[in-house]
Amino acid sequence: MNRHVVGRTRSEGRRQRAVLRRGCDACNHPWLEHPGWAESPDPASCGECLFEIEHEERQADPCSEVVPVSILREAEPM
Ligand SMILES: [Zn+2]
Ligand SMILES: [Zn+2]
Repeated sequence: MNRHVVGRTRSEGRRQRAVLRRGCDACNHPWLEHPGWAESPDPASCGECLFEIEHEERQADPCSEVVPVSILREAEPM
């Protein structure tokens, strides 16, 4: 991993997305769609699960995993 990239905002944003694009253990959807992340589409469930249920592509309940603190910390360095 390259931790010394110059050119702040743009590469930071890209790196952040890369961290949050990793899949959740329960539903395998990206963390970007999960509660806990500031820009997640739904406060209680995985947005991608809800979308699939809406389109009858998923039979199970929506995943309600919250983005782990370790992921958030990695995505948003102080
Ligand atoms: Zn999930
Ligand atoms: Zn999901």
